Amino acid sequence: MPRKTSQGSAEEFFPDKLSLPALRSAAADCKACDLWKRGTQTVFGEGTRRAIAMFVGEQPGNEEDLTGKPFVGPAGGLFNKALEEAGIDRRQTFVTNVVKHFKWEPRGKRRIHKKPNAQEISACHPWLEAEIAVVKPKVIVALGATAAQTLLGPKFRVTKQRGEFFESTLAPYVMATVHPSSILRAPDDETRRLEYRRFVDDLKKLARVIT
Ligand code: SF4
Repeated sequence: MPRKTSQGSAEEFFPDKLSLPALRSAAADCKACDLWKRGTQTVFGEGTRRAIAMFVGEQPGNEEDLTGKPFVGPAGGLFNKALEEAGIDRRQTFVTNVVKHFKWEPRGKRRIHKKPNAQEISACHPWLEAEIAVVKPKVIVALGATAAQTLLGPKFRVTKQRGEFFESTLAPYVMATVHPSSILRAPDDETRRLEYRRFVDDLKKLARVIT
């Protein structure tokens, strides 16, 4: 878990009642770090309060920022396809991110993803903690290195430890795998196909735990 820093903390914006609607509404006004100035809106987690599995990515992307919904861009489409192939009903899941605002830098007319720094991750962490506390998922799956290191410690290596279940106080089972966007960035079709198969295989391990 990230340590608190001298920067602000999302906790300062918490509602009195910790329910998903109240948290989502409060997070919309969060200014605990500077990312609110750059993103269009806060992209809070989405899914059922009774979700068995919670998926945690790094931060919203361009389309998530514009729509206000997590996992709706091209990576979200690939994620949905892989879930279906692994036999996991997305309605039983909750999807969210470590950081709730899109961090980007301009490149021509495009907004290019920029990795959030440790202070931003730390400032935003209370929102994720609150989502976990309310949903109480049986399994948490970190997608990509930022989410994995936030949830499982800075020494965690997705390349070496993906697809394994780890003991954690966060949930009965915690696992990490790649972020679907990394599959889309594969250098060629064959690598992309192989990476997608490995991703589905990791999700199948999860399916065995939750079904
Ligand atoms: S990124 Fe998180 S902590 Fe920073 S302003 Fe947005 S919601 Fe608040």
